[in-house]
Amino acid sequence: MLPPSHSPQPGIPSKTASAGSQAGRAELFRKVFKLVRPGAPVPSFQVDFYPFTGVRHIIHLNDNGVQVRLSDILKGAPPLVFEALAEILICRVYGHASSREAQDYYRVFMSSPRIERRAERMRRERGTKKMVSPRGEAHDLQTMFRHLNRRYFSGRLRGVKIGWSLRRSRSVLGHFDPAHRVIIINRKLDHAQVPPFALEFLIYHEMLHLKFPPLRRSGRRVFHSCEFREAETKFPCFTEARKKLRFLC
Ligand SMILES: [Zn+2]
Repeated sequence: MLPPSHSPQPGIPSKTASAGSQAGRAELFRKVFKLVRPGAPVPSFQVDFYPFTGVRHIIHLNDNGVQVRLSDILKGAPPLVFEALAEILICRVYGHASSREAQDYYRVFMSSPRIERRAERMRRERGTKKMVSPRGEAHDLQTMFRHLNRRYFSGRLRGVKIGWSLRRSRSVLGHFDPAHRVIIINRKLDHAQVPPFALEFLIYHEMLHLKFPPLRRSGRRVFHSCEFREAETKFPCFTEARKKLRFLC
C-alpha cells in the first residue's frame, strides 16, 4: 500500500480524507490515483455505496471518468480501508499490481469478526438461496443427510436444508452456506454412476463445516482445521471416497 505505513487494525483513526461523503470518497480516490499513476491526467471519480448481496465492489471506466460502486458494508469503515481498497480497485482497472500492504490491510479489515458477522447477515437478509429439491433422479440427498446425521452427529444437526444446485458446476462439488444454513450439492453428481458412498462422504464433509466453524489464524480463516481433517477420516472408505470425488468434477 502507498504511504503512510500503518498497522492493519480496523478502527484506527486517520487524518486522511473523509470517506463519509460522496465528495470525500471521490477526493480519496483521486489522491490514491495520483500515487498509483503519477503524472497521468486525473479522471473524475463517482464513488457510491451499493447494497450488494455479498461483499463486492465494481469499478469501470467510461467517457465521463471512473465509476465505482462499493459494497455498503464499508459504510463507516476507517479512511485507510478506503485507501487500501481504492488502490486495489484503481490498480485492477488500469492493469497494475496493487501493493501487498494494501491487500493485507483490506483483507485483515474484512476478515475481522464484526465485518464477517455483518457480511453474513447481509447475505442472509438480502440473498435467497437457489436450489432444487433434494430428491434427485438418482439420489435422494435428504435421506442421506438424515442417515449421516443420526450416525455421526447423534441427530444434533438441526435446521439445515440440503438440495441440489440449479446448475451443473464444473469445479465445485458442494458447499455449506452458513448464512442460510444450507448444503448445496452439485447437480452434476445426481447420476447413477456416482456411487452413494462418494456422495455421502461429500455431504458428510459439508456437515462437518457445521460442527467445526472456520477458525481464525493470523487474520485468515481456516476452513479445514486439523480437527476437521481428523473427523473426516472417521468416514468409512475415506480414502476411496475422496479419490472417487476427485474424478467426478
Ligand atoms: Zn470444505
